[in-house]
Amino acid sequence: MSYDIIIKNGKIIDGAGNPWYSADIGIKDGIINTIRPKLESTAASQIDCRNLIVCPGFIDMHTHTDFLLAIYTKMDSAIRQGITTSVVGMCGESLAPIPPEKLEEFKKLFSSLTPMGGDLKITWDTYRKYLEEMDKLRIPGNIVPVVGFAPIRIAGGPGYENRAPSPQELEKMKSYVKEAMEAGAFGLSTGLIYAPQVFANTEEIIELAKVAANYNGLYFSHIRGEGRNLINAVKEVIEIVEKSGCIGGQIAHHKVSGKAYWGASKETIQLIEEANARGISITCDQYPYNRGQSGLMTSLPPWAREGGKEKILERLKNPEERERIKTDILKPSEDWENWIETSGFDHIYITFFKDKEWKDVEGRSISEITRIKGKADDFETYFEILINENADVNITIESMDEEDIRRIMTSRYQMIGTDATASPHLPDFKIFHPRTFGTYPRLLGKYVREEKLLTMEDAIRRMTSFPAQRVGLRDRGLIREGNWADIVIFNPDTVKDKTDFMQPHQFPEGIIHVIINGILVVENEKQRKKYPGKVLRRPN
Ligand SMILES: [Zn+2]
Repeated sequence: MSYDIIIKNGKIIDGAGNPWYSADIGIKDGIINTIRPKLESTAASQIDCRNLIVCPGFIDMHTHTDFLLAIYTKMDSAIRQGITTSVVGMCGESLAPIPPEKLEEFKKLFSSLTPMGGDLKITWDTYRKYLEEMDKLRIPGNIVPVVGFAPIRIAGGPGYENRAPSPQELEKMKSYVKEAMEAGAFGLSTGLIYAPQVFANTEEIIELAKVAANYNGLYFSHIRGEGRNLINAVKEVIEIVEKSGCIGGQIAHHKVSGKAYWGASKETIQLIEEANARGISITCDQYPYNRGQSGLMTSLPPWAREGGKEKILERLKNPEERERIKTDILKPSEDWENWIETSGFDHIYITFFKDKEWKDVEGRSISEITRIKGKADDFETYFEILINENADVNITIESMDEEDIRRIMTSRYQMIGTDATASPHLPDFKIFHPRTFGTYPRLLGKYVREEKLLTMEDAIRRMTSFPAQRVGLRDRGLIREGNWADIVIFNPDTVKDKTDFMQPHQFPEGIIHVIINGILVVENEKQRKKYPGKVLRRPN
């Protein structure tokens, strides 16, 4: 037998949670063909992996990579950290369906979501056509597509109106979910803090999740609150999964946000445990950082976000409306995720300014900016930034406590996801959270090697076979003969992330080789111009 690649002398960690063993791997036609203690056959290329760990490629359970893929396909920030498969369409935001008559509305939604400028050429309408367009892209990594609730509410429902759908609208939205599931979506996602999704009640989502359930789709959710409303929000996911009959629910980037609520992960994990004990399958994903990332616009009360961006800007420019916004932000409420009230202006950092006048305060908190720029108060700074940057302002929010992070990380229902958009290396364009470049190496370096919070085998399982099992990929996520050859080879003694919040664009160290569908994509920490990635469809 002659192989395409033989991986020799590595310490294999198979992804199932088992300790390492010693073997060679023969790869042929994209597949892990043979695993033997010593392979004496020939191969077009051999990779000597003495002292290195050989494990399945990382399956990133939560990404927004679809929003960049249409304009930037190299996926370097993901590939270089060992991610071989990315789940996309998260937080209710996917790039389809887009019926032609709603195209303008979609462009507005996307302009605030696409970090590179929203200049998307939309050549599709249905979800199926969208996947077919994605198939034409030359991409290095695999994609697991999920359909988002936001385009569905715009396509067939009440859109940005703060009301329940009519029976006709509900039927229309259900037909869009059906179309996406039949085209191969792996499930339905929601992001219940974002407009227009914030306007939907639980019933509306249950009805749509029922359609995903008919196709064994998973329900993914950025839940309705991660701070004051966290417990109710976790209960809502459980209710949606239970009443819709979905095979399971995935809580996105699980966290406890806001100092007053720190410690609440005890209760959320308890709720997840109890749901599973009752036969309702609930899992979560997590990135290992104490800051989240979002858009500053989402810190406005929901009423101020009605009607889309133009209406929002009108309100921001009106002194009376501004006063009303300020009053609502200062008032604790369970009805919406009020970051300013829970974390404070001193913990909300602006990552990037389009306006050159403000470049000097990039990466600073709103309170710091108030001081540096000599503004009257933080609200003045806040409104000025929103108006000046046309309401599209990227922020990170320092809202989490290390103890909650560690408690969630070690809970048995946790797996890893970056919540990132696979991005280019642009040191001057600091728009991306360090998780974009560093999540997996940080886990392996900080939490496995240095702090010994997780064993290596367990951490790798949470990065590979667990997410594969969760989305239903039966032929990835494990080093097994017959599986696709998605493989990461790394140095356990040196692997680490090199990013922080002021320098978020740095490739990690120690991720030596990455193989995707049998093709060597990263060789000696350099990405090659190889594009073996596939857009996967949900297997029946
Ligand atoms: Zn999210």
